[in-house]
Amino acid sequence: MHNEGILIVISAPSGAGKTTLCNGLIQKFPTLKESVSFTTRTPRAGEQDGVNYNFVTVERFKEMIAENSFAEWAEVHDNFYGTSLDTLEQARVDGIDILLDIDCQGAKILKKKFVNAVFVFVLPPSLEELRRRLELRSSDSPDVIERRIARAMEEIHEARWYDYIIVNDKLELAQYYLTSIVTAARLTTRQMLGQVSKMFDI
Ligand code: 5GP
Repeated sequence: MHNEGILIVISAPSGAGKTTLCNGLIQKFPTLKESVSFTTRTPRAGEQDGVNYNFVTVERFKEMIAENSFAEWAEVHDNFYGTSLDTLEQARVDGIDILLDIDCQGAKILKKKFVNAVFVFVLPPSLEELRRRLELRSSDSPDVIERRIARAMEEIHEARWYDYIIVNDKLELAQYYLTSIVTAARLTTRQMLGQVSKMFDI
C-alpha cells in the first residue's frame, strides 16, 4: 500500500516489556520484518542462531567492525551487538518495513543516519514496577537486578530524543499505541505520495 520501507527503532530498559510489544507488532503487521542482529553473547535456552540473533565470536565481530559491516554497533552488558548494513539495505531495496530492537547507543547512531526512521522508547510505569518485573524473572540474581535498574535509569534519560514514548502500564493499551505509531508512519504524505500520484495522475 505504501512505497518506501519504514525503519522502526524501538529501545527500552530491560523489563519494560519491549519484546512482548515487538512480537505483538509483528503479529499485527505480518509484512513487518524484524532485523536479526549480530551478537557476541552466548545463546539463551531456546534461542536459535540466525533467528533470534546471529551469534558470532568477538574476533568475528571485530572483523565485521573493521569491514564496515554495521550500520550501528554497541557494547551492552559486556557483549557486542550490531545491526548489519546489508539487512537495512536489503529492506530498503525490497521496500519492506523493518523493526529494530536495539539499545539507546545504537539508536542514537541511526538517528543521525536515517532521518526518516521512527524512534520509539518504551518505559515501565515506575521504577518500583520495573524492579517487580525483574524480580519475577527467576533468571536474574539480586546484584544483576540492581545493575539492570541502575542501567535503566541511565537509559531513561535518553528517552528525550526519541520521536515517541510509550509508558507500558497496561499491555493492551501500549500495544495499541505502538500499532498506531506504525500505522501513522505508513500514512505520511512522503509514504503515500507515489501511490496517490499514480491513482490520480498528479
Ligand atoms: P539481550 O541480550 O537481552 O537480547 O539484549 C540486550 C540489549 O541489547 C537490549 O537492550 C537490546 O535491545 C540490545 N540489542 C540487541 N540487538 C542490538 C543491536 O543490533 N544493536 C544494539 N545497539 N543493541 C542491540
